[in-house]
Amino acid sequence: MNQDEILLARSEFLFPAVFHLYREPLVLARSKDQYVWDADGRQYLDFFGGIVTVSIGHCNDEINARVHRQIDTLGHTSTLYSSGPMMKLAQQLASISPNGALTRSMFTNSGSEANETAIHAARMFTGNSDIIALRHSYHGRSQLAAALTGNQAWRYSGPPAAGITFAHNAYCYRCPFGLTYPNCELRCATDVKDLIRTTTSGRVAGMIAEPIQGVGGFITPPPEYFGIVADTVRQHGGVFISDEVQTAWGRTGDKWFGIEHWGVTPDILTSAKGLANGLPIGLTLARDEVARAVPSPTIATFGGNPISSEAACAVLDFIEAHGLRTRTAENGAYLREGLLALQDKHPLIGDVRGMGLLQAMELVTDRASRTPATAQAAALLEAARELGLLLGKGGLHGNCIRLSPPMNIGKADIDEFLLRLDRSFETISSQ
Ligand code: PMP
Repeated sequence: MNQDEILLARSEFLFPAVFHLYREPLVLARSKDQYVWDADGRQYLDFFGGIVTVSIGHCNDEINARVHRQIDTLGHTSTLYSSGPMMKLAQQLASISPNGALTRSMFTNSGSEANETAIHAARMFTGNSDIIALRHSYHGRSQLAAALTGNQAWRYSGPPAAGITFAHNAYCYRCPFGLTYPNCELRCATDVKDLIRTTTSGRVAGMIAEPIQGVGGFITPPPEYFGIVADTVRQHGGVFISDEVQTAWGRTGDKWFGIEHWGVTPDILTSAKGLANGLPIGLTLARDEVARAVPSPTIATFGGNPISSEAACAVLDFIEAHGLRTRTAENGAYLREGLLALQDKHPLIGDVRGMGLLQAMELVTDRASRTPATAQAAALLEAARELGLLLGKGGLHGNCIRLSPPMNIGKADIDEFLLRLDRSFETISSQ
């Protein structure tokens, strides 16, 4: 199929609701390491990494070699049968889990399923039903995961799920209480106690939160935040669930998991995306007692399939062997410096935030009013595309530029990225 045929088929045969980022959908034909190519052979530097999923480069040679071997050896088992790759992965995950405390895995196929499993486990373990989620969150596209999502664009039109209540997030750039850190004394975190007392039965099943809100625009809470909210939730009978679909596997630098930067050990952790570098996988990792509370039987047809599991083991091995957690911290700091220099130059950039190679810029039409620059963010993506650069976008107002390149990029890629980003800003300011 050529590009026109692909676009025509898309418009005729896909659900029209399927979202894409550009005026004209981008058709990809090929990819390698930090680059993708469209159907016309144009090369793009990929600084979104397939929505934070291509953690160690497109079509990574080392991962692909292991996937090829696996696909010719054992391709499908379901969770009904056991396999070496599934158990090797479960063992590896237990050994790197925060404080070694989460030792039991349930494998599924996506972040949405991983979160469904986590909420089910939290409710079974505690005997409570109320769940606290955060405003501006994204937890997936199933009916329950969408109901946990604090962003109207992604909540769809299904009937509302009962028993979910939303806390204010730690959005310091737009503090929901109009306060400034640290004088705020973490009002957003201490408010969770009031939230429980006023909107729940007083006994909760748990709280689910992304350490850094991904779709929300890489909103990064202050260091004290998760310690306070996790304690509050536990005091009211609940568990703390860290949704690490975007923040795991070294993406935030130095640590395997985002939540470790806040010194909190979750009771349940979910992930997907970057774990298998693009192959489908969902993970719910839980403390032994929590996992034991899930009633038997349970099953996932594609869960823990040997190909995704082997790919995931290969990804973890690659991150370890290449020292990528440390490198991500270093390259993340280098990228951040470059973004701050661009902020000095381009008034559109109101805020720069994130950790490691998960960095965002929030665009505003003027810095005093902080009015979201939604149209400008869309224009920036188009201008960058013209210059052979892929960026991500997010935020409640679609005005946050999200950056999550593969973690094995080098400084030269960051230099090239900053050059093209600078030119993209220049293009839209002269429009
Ligand atoms: N949680 C978070 C934090 C996510 O970013 C996403 C996907 N954007 C999901 C859950 C859902 O994952 P999936 O699309 O694999 O269902």
